[in-house]
Amino acid sequence: MSNNIKSVPFLDLVTPHAELRSELTAVFREALRTAGFVGGPMVESFEREFAKFCETQYCVGLGSGTDALRFALIAAGIGNGDAVITVPNTFIATTEAIAQAGAYPVFVDIVERTYNMDVAKLQAYLESCESHSASGPLRDRKTQAIVKAIVPVHLYGQMADMDAILALAERYNLIVIEDACQAHGAEYFSQKENCWKKAGSMGLAAAFSFYPGKNLGACGEAGAVTTNDEKIATTIKMIRDHGQSRKYYHDLVGYNGRLDSIQAGFLSVKLKHLAEWNIKRRAHAAKYRELFGANTENCVLPYELPSTRPVYHLYVIRTADREGLRISLAESGIGTAIHYPVPLHLQTAYVSMGHKHGDFPVTEKVASEILSLPMYPGLQHDEQVRVVANVIEEIGIRRSSQSVGVGAREQAV
Ligand SMILES: *Cc1c(COP(=O)(O)O)cnc(C)c1O
Repeated sequence: MSNNIKSVPFLDLVTPHAELRSELTAVFREALRTAGFVGGPMVESFEREFAKFCETQYCVGLGSGTDALRFALIAAGIGNGDAVITVPNTFIATTEAIAQAGAYPVFVDIVERTYNMDVAKLQAYLESCESHSASGPLRDRKTQAIVKAIVPVHLYGQMADMDAILALAERYNLIVIEDACQAHGAEYFSQKENCWKKAGSMGLAAAFSFYPGKNLGACGEAGAVTTNDEKIATTIKMIRDHGQSRKYYHDLVGYNGRLDSIQAGFLSVKLKHLAEWNIKRRAHAAKYRELFGANTENCVLPYELPSTRPVYHLYVIRTADREGLRISLAESGIGTAIHYPVPLHLQTAYVSMGHKHGDFPVTEKVASEILSLPMYPGLQHDEQVRVVANVIEEIGIRRSSQSVGVGAREQAV
């Protein structure tokens, strides 16, 4: 290893913007020339292009991924006194949107291998609900709220088990809204439809975020809903624009949640590269696995379900002494992050929900062990070599000083 050690950032947002500089500035110049800042052709083109990318009929551009989740739920008819099921290991925007639509979030724990919703636990929860007749509403026993919808999160870029979730939703007459904010371009093989499906094309509607660090990121805030339901698309177009059906005729109480035209133009430029960027992320994930080789006794690498093609928004490993590893990598100039350190049900903002430690044990266990390693399309081979060498070395030192951990358990299997 050289003496002058180059740092490896967790994420590099500077290089791709330098590479696209002339195309991006052309968008800005065009917006200035036409003073088209809200709505107009740049928004409409991006919506058409992103719908095509997601293999859906409609895309509605919005101000953020949080707006997208909130508006999709509202347009689907979720409101006061309803309950919406999601997972406790996600970004808080998922549950903020549920609450802001007027509903109660209900948590279902995750599968340890994929970090996505555990369908067996979803089924157990649904079976635990009260229902007085076969066609009558399903009520959450604790809150008496009517269970109306499921929001599966395609976390880290891998899709949740959508066939199973949609089958339960059909049986219990529930709406499914996908949180695809980390999964632009991810795919899932549907046994039911016997074909690969894109993230955002399986639920009644799906939310995407174009926050700068996402696989497709704006140069600011942006988001979108995709759907094959014309009525949902039309309603969200009204909700994002103060509930207007035409100027100053307000059919419903809406929001100001439109996609900025300049951001739409930037997104169109970047969308052309998204498929290639996702291929690179997948190649980096394969390279990480190859570099780890057999050195995985004390750490867990991401697991790819055979029915999914993840797009690695994040590359998340697990180890017993996560904090120790994180500090040592930082000392070697390697950037990491934690997604997420505190499960939602244990956040201060949610004390009123009355949850306690132990309510969602899988989420709680992984929250103390997960670490996101550097992952972005421009990640270099020598950078990955350095990251993995540092992780293996550090975990090796820790293994010899302690005998119990993730690895010890797995070795016993
Ligand atoms: C980023 C993200 C959101 C929110 O998107 P914003 O554009 O930041 O509002 C929602 N859910 C998940 C899982 C996310 O990663």
